[in-house]
This record gives sequence, C-alpha cells and structure tokens, in this order.
Amino acid sequence: MTMIERNLQQLRTRIATACQASGRNVQDVALLAVSKTFGPEAVREAFAAGQRAFGENYIQEAVEKMALLADLPIEWHCIGPIQSNKTRGVATHFAWAHTVDRLKIAERLSAQRPPELPPLQVCIRVNVDGGANKSGVAPGEALALARAVASLPRLRLRGLMAIPEHAPDFEAARAVHMRARAIFDHMNAAGLGLDTLSLGMSADLEAAIAAGSTMVRVGTAIFGLRDVR
Ligand SMILES: *Cc1c(COP(=O)(O)O)cnc(C)c1O
Repeated sequence: MTMIERNLQQLRTRIATACQASGRNVQDVALLAVSKTFGPEAVREAFAAGQRAFGENYIQEAVEKMALLADLPIEWHCIGPIQSNKTRGVATHFAWAHTVDRLKIAERLSAQRPPELPPLQVCIRVNVDGGANKSGVAPGEALALARAVASLPRLRLRGLMAIPEHAPDFEAARAVHMRARAIFDHMNAAGLGLDTLSLGMSADLEAAIAAGSTMVRVGTAIFGLRDVR
C-alpha cells in the first residue's frame, strides 16, 4: 500500500469518527483532496485509491497538471484566490470555484464559462473572523452577494467557503466554524437553497464537521508536508 493510499484510508476513518461524534451521516461530508504543489503522480495515486475530487490554488500550476491527467475523470475545484486576470482560466478548466468574494469576479466567470460546459459550481468565500487572512466577503454583505451570484446564468451557487485563522483548541475552532454555519443557515432561511459548506482542513476538520461542514479540503494529511513556496 502506498503512503497516499494509507493516508486516505486513515483520513476516511477520521472523517467517519468525526461524523459519528456529531451524529452526522458520513455520506454528507465530501472529501476534497488538495493537491497544490504536488505533481501529477501523487494525484494519480490518490485517484487509484478512489479519490475523485481535487483542489488546486494556483491556476497555472493546475492547468499544467490537468493536461497531464486528462485521461482521468477528475472533478477539479479552484480553492485559491481568483484575480480578475485569472477568471478565464478558472471558467475554462474547473468544475467548481470556492473563493468567489466579489460580484465582478462572479460576472466574469459567468460570462467566460464555455457554453459546452455545465454551469460552474460556485461557493462564496466569507471572511468569518476578520483575521490577518482578509480574503472573503464580510458576513454582513454575504447575502446580497449570494443573491446576485445566484442570478448569473452560467454559475450555480452551491454554498459558502471559509478559512478561519488557526484556533488554539477544538471548542475555539468549532466556534469560529459556527459563524460560517450561521451565515449558511441565514442564506437558506432566505431561500437560497445552498447544499455546500466548504469548511475544514487537515488540522481542524473535526471541528468543521461538528459545525456542519459538508466538504473538507485536505492536503497535508493526504500528500504530506508541502515545500514552502
Ligand atoms: C492548502 C489549502 C487547504 C489544505 O490545507 P491542509 O492544511 O494541507 O490540509 C485547504 N484549503 C485551502 C483554501 C488551501 O489553500
């Protein structure tokens, strides 16, 4: 068994244990494997071990990797920040974009989505803690942005994504994840019909699942430590 295969097995157990601890169904938490900085062979190994959805942060790196993996039916998710000059690459090559935080970016993605592809699946990135990492729409502006995004023809709004600052313990992590959950519930109460809460990484996925995450984005626990770049 390869390291990646073993890591994926252990991770699935971790996710199942976290679901059980919070009385949730394991089918309701999807695993997104974050392959940034790792080469196509690592992705192939994870694919061979049953993983189908992969997340990438850097458009150029992702597009090069996709070309080398075009023989595999992988679902690619863009989880990195999206600048205006990068929207075409995202609209053309990805199935999902998790980090939409401005209407202008959403409009470009919708306009540039090729007609032969299904709508781009989108999450709004919310800045839940105003931390040093300030990307994301402010919670008070999230509902208006979500409504505007939901009306764009070539996007399909699926939910919210957040990356809270590191928290010192489980309860603190759960509390900050719960802020994203509260915004998610608020939007659904307003009729947006969201089904995706993209929340939790290698270090805090248990707290995210306790708060209602439906998709954890995990890199290190599958592929190992990344080189700093
Ligand atoms: C890198 C990254 C991850 C994965 O982080 P790990 O700690 O390696 O699991 C998840 N989400 C986003 C947005 C990332 O950039």
